[in-house]
Amino acid sequence: MSRKSKRAKAAQIRETMAAEGASVRENTQGFNQGRYDTVADLENYEELKDEARQIKEDAIERLPELIDQLTEAIEANGGTVYLAEDEADANEYVSSLVESGETVVKSKSMTSEELEVNEHLEAAGANVVETDLGEWVLQVADEAPSHLVAPAIHKSRESIADLFRERFDPDQPLETPEDLTAFASEYLADAFEEADVGMTGANFLTADSGSMMLVTSEGNARKTVAATDTHVAVAGVEKIVPSVEDLQPFVELIGRSGTGQDITAYVSLLTPPVETATFGEDGLEGSDDRDFHLVLIDNGRMAMREDEQLRETLYCIRCSACANTCANFQQVGGHEFGGETYTGGIAGGWETGVHGLDSSEEFVDLCTGCSRCVEACPVGIDIPWINTVVRDRINRGADGHTYDFLVDGLTPDAEEGGMSLQKRFFGNFVTVAKLGSLFAPVSNWLASFGPNRWIAEQLLGVDQRREMPQFSRETLKEWASGRDGPADPDREAVFMADTYTNYMHVERGKAAIRALEALNVDVEIADVTESGRAALSQGMVRTAANHGKAVAEELLPHIADGRDVVIVEPSDLAMLRDDYERLLDAETYERLSENSYEILEYVYGLLENGADADALRDGDGEEIAYHGHCQQRTLGLAAHTEAVLEELGYDLVTSDVECCGMAGSFGFKQQYYEVSMAVGEELREQFSTPEAEGRTVVASGTSCHDQLTDLMKQDVPHPIELVAP
Ligand code: SF4
Repeated sequence: MSRKSKRAKAAQIRETMAAEGASVRENTQGFNQGRYDTVADLENYEELKDEARQIKEDAIERLPELIDQLTEAIEANGGTVYLAEDEADANEYVSSLVESGETVVKSKSMTSEELEVNEHLEAAGANVVETDLGEWVLQVADEAPSHLVAPAIHKSRESIADLFRERFDPDQPLETPEDLTAFASEYLADAFEEADVGMTGANFLTADSGSMMLVTSEGNARKTVAATDTHVAVAGVEKIVPSVEDLQPFVELIGRSGTGQDITAYVSLLTPPVETATFGEDGLEGSDDRDFHLVLIDNGRMAMREDEQLRETLYCIRCSACANTCANFQQVGGHEFGGETYTGGIAGGWETGVHGLDSSEEFVDLCTGCSRCVEACPVGIDIPWINTVVRDRINRGADGHTYDFLVDGLTPDAEEGGMSLQKRFFGNFVTVAKLGSLFAPVSNWLASFGPNRWIAEQLLGVDQRREMPQFSRETLKEWASGRDGPADPDREAVFMADTYTNYMHVERGKAAIRALEALNVDVEIADVTESGRAALSQGMVRTAANHGKAVAEELLPHIADGRDVVIVEPSDLAMLRDDYERLLDAETYERLSENSYEILEYVYGLLENGADADALRDGDGEEIAYHGHCQQRTLGLAAHTEAVLEELGYDLVTSDVECCGMAGSFGFKQQYYEVSMAVGEELREQFSTPEAEGRTVVASGTSCHDQLTDLMKQDVPHPIELVAP
């Protein structure tokens, strides 16, 4: 992204947040909270997720066979199946079913957005009417959906009332949601009566019987099918599951995951052609000549199936939980966080698969890789990984850059030239940190000197409003070298100081080592500091893998000698516990993953196993406000920190705002600064309530530290700095 486009992107995001942010925030956060509440009541939630994942894995594996089976079943029922290769093919077929002048009523079809069916049919002289309220509002407003299941989520009640007033000039003022809904229902009732063709999507298609499942909030899919003689369903091939029995876990999961409802208002199971009566000239009539066409869309999906990295995207059931849970999506919504059709975290995979990489480039970097969506996803898709792969492919496809000479030779990455200078700067931050530390304090002065900040913003897109971290002249490794450990240690550990801890936030590293030694652990410092997280977050997968190999080379001999690996930065631990599975061989990954611990998780384990808590500093009732870290939560580790702090006598309140918004380099980037601050503002507000105000603010991650220091205007230590003697 050029300097100009970074500025333009920042302006565009600012504008969208101002216009749509409040509605998006209110709705997505409501859905997300609803998900927490409803899945908490579901005893077998994890089993249902596993079952759903397994069904989708199996279905995609057997897809060609299931397409044949579904075709046979539908033809036996009297319907027709058309397998459309791409958008043009699908549109041509659909157009052949609709005559000029006919009215088409539509319900529940994101896939038809992908095909832009409406435009196509309208160009051929048909009258197309969306019947789901949100879709209809967007049709009237001539806008694109901004959410997978609530397409008009970005619109407030007031803006919808204004729109209706402007377009329809109603006799009565429309103010309440009830007024608006009643007006829309009346308008749409006429459309149903006039309709010649009904078009729907399908949430699931069952190969055994040719049945389809549609989940809707207003029941319009049923009406659409019942009101017309011709039913055209358009659905991606990935919607097929083997049998009707396979629908069960999805019925349980889809409403809960998406909108936080125990079950979606209408769950329709149809085996078309249906025999329901239709509207005729004299009211309802018989339905002898019902016609059903299923248009099964490939449009890149079969190629995604062959693509090892994108294949998982096809498991998606389009529930939108990934979008609702995403802190950035909650601020900007799907008009910034999506491509031509699809939105949210998973849009990176969908858009790449169905529209190509160009369609993903604009938004895919809004995924910070925090991984909260993985937990929210009912089929466990590793969405951050898909986005990383997409970034990597975009990086590799980039054209040569004027400033490549600035990084080529200076940086140890394994990427081809042409990648954005901003990405290479942040992806190779360890090099910057080494030099910064070597020449501190001069480098600190240079890094904060106004004209240099301006140059950094012009060249690298590092936002001038961000305070730069200070490099330490003495690195953690230098401080720790030659240190005498306990005479008779109970355990031995190797401490992997991340780049920030070694070169900048040295105090938290010193505290970690002091705490471990106080608990009778002998500590060695690892020679590597870079896990590859910085490179991975820029989509530099090959460079990240190289760092992973270096980490393995360094740590495996320590593990073989019986040492535990202890890490202070949660996002680095997540590399060893999760991401390395994709980057290293299975055995190496397992060894590293099984033997690595986050510092407070390790302290918790030591105390549980008899270590003397009195060796650590007593909290003595000190009031603290604690913010965990996204990845720490995903790894299930936040509870350990809280338990240790409470055991040592701290009076603790914990933020339930899950993300600080900084996310590594994300908040430093000019184009994303405003989003980052908007996410962080919610955390600041929570720590400014009467319950939390005046407390010592403590955070586990480097990014959280930087963001909270900025927001709260106070120093924000790591919890280990509180408890270390
Ligand atoms: S990726 Fe998962 S969470 Fe996101 S829409 Fe698809 S199924 Fe739902």
